[in-house]
Amino acid sequence: MTTNKVIIIGSGPAGHTAALYAARANMLPIVFEGHEPGGQLTTTTDVENFPGFPMGVQGPELMASMKDQAKKFGAQYINQTVTSVDFSKKPFRILCENKESYICETVIISTGASAKYLGLANEKNLIGKGVSACATCDGFFYKDKIVHVVGGGDTAMEEASFLTKFAKEVHIIHRRDTLRASKPMQKRAFDNPKINFLWDTTVEEILFDDRGVNGIIVKNLKSDEKTERLTDGFFLGIGHTPNTQFLNGQIDLDDHQFIKTLNGGPETNIPGVFACGDVQDPFYRQAITAAGSGCMAAIKAEKYLSE
Ligand code: NAP
Repeated sequence: MTTNKVIIIGSGPAGHTAALYAARANMLPIVFEGHEPGGQLTTTTDVENFPGFPMGVQGPELMASMKDQAKKFGAQYINQTVTSVDFSKKPFRILCENKESYICETVIISTGASAKYLGLANEKNLIGKGVSACATCDGFFYKDKIVHVVGGGDTAMEEASFLTKFAKEVHIIHRRDTLRASKPMQKRAFDNPKINFLWDTTVEEILFDDRGVNGIIVKNLKSDEKTERLTDGFFLGIGHTPNTQFLNGQIDLDDHQFIKTLNGGPETNIPGVFACGDVQDPFYRQAITAAGSGCMAAIKAEKYLSE
């Protein structure tokens, strides 16, 4: 079996960028694309904050261009999902869903994170049509509109505060009467006159017409009363799940299951295994930061191999 120089697991902006840099450094990277080739950006429409596209770019188109660019320099893409890894000895072993295994000297993990959704009817079909899990990406489309944000943690507070730059009304819906968010983030939200809180409340249904979301039905958990509310946007702020389950405890993760990287770089606790993008980033979670960290991972993998 050939020992590959580098295997990249995941094909969002971090994985594609790592593949581009690794290919140009003659490392002949193999990229396993995973269940959602292209990652979270393939579920969005207009991307207006990726530098270099003054007119914006469609998420799927951006991902396809990144992949083409990496392939041009020799990156090999395999449409398979990695189901398990063996980092206990070198070379590392990677096992795919089709039961084929591969061995390699270095691994770059760029499997991303998935936003959590409530599981309501039509919620996922309405992504890009009023439902969003990324205020930074989509807030701009809600100028002078009414939006609702679900969640009581830092993500929800941050999304709501960001949305007040555009929307005329921002309503935070939280299932309890106290927030989980950190005190400074809570204060910021409480002090913002555009933000209103709906406590002890859950969302029962998303209402929509041909143009997208136009309302929601919420339920007060104390009175059981259901109310219909007008809204143009419905934002999920209930957290993200990093895609680290397949690592099966073989690498250090933080309390929220994100990969722990060392000193702000892509190194993990296992020499030769690097992580980049949202799988190790609970904070920035942007395509451009993911791409940047993919570049860092490839450069560090190349340095590791040459040493
Ligand atoms: P989180 O702290 O786990 O909070 C998730 C929130 O969503 C909680 O309030 C939870 O309600 C609610 N929730 C979860 N599932 C729900 C459901 N099915 N229905 C209704 N509500 C639901 O997640 P997070 O806010 O994404 O933060 C994750 C980590 O990243 C934290 O450590 C946070 O500090 C960090 N972070 C930091 C920043 C920053 O510093 N700028 C920004 C974002 C995130 P309950 O409270 O009732 O459980």
